[in-house]
Amino acid sequence: MLKIRRPEFDQLRQHGEETYPHECCGILLGQMDGDQRIVTSVARCGNTRSDSPHNRYSIDPKEQIRIQREGRERGEDIIGFYHSHPDHPPRWSPTDLAEAHLPGYSYLITSVEKGKAVITNSFELTGSDDGNDKTFVDEKIEVI
Ligand SMILES: [Zn+2]
Repeated sequence: MLKIRRPEFDQLRQHGEETYPHECCGILLGQMDGDQRIVTSVARCGNTRSDSPHNRYSIDPKEQIRIQREGRERGEDIIGFYHSHPDHPPRWSPTDLAEAHLPGYSYLITSVEKGKAVITNSFELTGSDDGNDKTFVDEKIEVI
């Protein structure tokens, strides 16, 4: 289960509205507590995909390292990632799976229809990245 407070939840959904009709992307920071993940902050990233920003996203590794370092200084770890699906359902795509490399992390997808954030779903990546068994499983989101 992923627990997230209302301000952070609204923040990542709003990000998708702002970048519409392009995808937004960002990082979830917080703590792992057993099988629960608790989001304590979200960090926006620039979408580095210029070839197809309406249905692809990519986070600059340098930006990710900076966010990780800043999070550690506050006692937070990266626990997941989020992006938006402009005018598409909040389900993961084969590309999302191919480009997800961190099993045990949460991947949030928000559908943004006509510029308005609608549904946000979370998926946990399971299996191993180098094997052929990685997949996403549905993860419950609790807004606290
Ligand atoms: Zn996607």
